[in-house]
Amino acid sequence: MKLNFIYLKYLYLFVTVWLISCEDSNQDKVEEKAVLPKDTIEKEVFPALGHDAPYITDSTYFGRNNYIEYIAGNIPIILSAPHGGALTPDEIPDRTYGTTVTDANTYQLTKVIMDSMVIRYGGRPHVILCRLKRTKLDANRDSIEAAQNNRFALRAFNEFHFYIDQAKKKIERDFGSGLFFDMHGHGANPDGFYDLRTWLGYLIKGDELDLSDDELKNNVDPSMSSIRALIDSSEFEFVELLRGSSSFGTMLTDLGFSCVPSSDHLGPEGSRFFSGGYNTLVHGSKNGGMISAIQIEAPKPGIRENIATWSKFASAFTSTVSKFYKMHLRRDILAID
Ligand SMILES: [Zn+2]
Repeated sequence: MKLNFIYLKYLYLFVTVWLISCEDSNQDKVEEKAVLPKDTIEKEVFPALGHDAPYITDSTYFGRNNYIEYIAGNIPIILSAPHGGALTPDEIPDRTYGTTVTDANTYQLTKVIMDSMVIRYGGRPHVILCRLKRTKLDANRDSIEAAQNNRFALRAFNEFHFYIDQAKKKIERDFGSGLFFDMHGHGANPDGFYDLRTWLGYLIKGDELDLSDDELKNNVDPSMSSIRALIDSSEFEFVELLRGSSSFGTMLTDLGFSCVPSSDHLGPEGSRFFSGGYNTLVHGSKNGGMISAIQIEAPKPGIRENIATWSKFASAFTSTVSKFYKMHLRRDILAID
């Protein structure tokens, strides 16, 4: 971006010199016209989103000032981590409202899952990571709350979602449909209780999950879920998909990571639960498209703690994604470039 600033400065100098040299007789007037307002000269001009395309599999793309990281993939899976960043640049003031807590180690955990998928699937998921600390940008809120009127934070927000959109378009073009996982972490409840289960967000609220199967069928419209497209293509019913034996939660539970919802824990039973945020809503299939989204809220103990727990979880997660994908989309996860 420095280049643009320098370019503008030279453009200004060039225009001034050119005008003066051409119109010596009217020098005072020309100089006056050529003086641009200070903020016009110094305001950084951002390149158009997509200026760094095409996105080649296995290559990494960084947005402005390395605030956003996109590792381009070739399988129908997208992973994002909006709350795991650590950068605190001075040019972006701290956000003054909303949640600012970092989801510790979700940046690292997401990369370990990516590596696990590369080894197991023989192809790479699309991975989009926010490297800014949540005090500077919340990439899982609408742009107003996310960036709080700072243009550099807003630029990073736009890049984060642009890269996800590019990945979605490529997957829809190459595979027809795919899965998006927004990776988060939850901490202890305000009363000190720490729920050690992983919460799965499909935009189905905790009190809806606490209904019986029949009540859920009668009261909750499957098309309001972030996995609407998956439900449409699956042979299984919505409730079965949410918490039956073929649900993501039950499959991950079977590999040692207890989940809500799953056949063991149908709902949160009134306790704190996150059903999916902005990214799950905007990038899932509730409002159209063929990419289904699940928000993953992992506790720190046993999952986000250290490289040993990241690896263990990544292995189980990778197995679950391929099994779930095959069961409901009836294909293996293959790579297409
Ligand atoms: Zn989060």
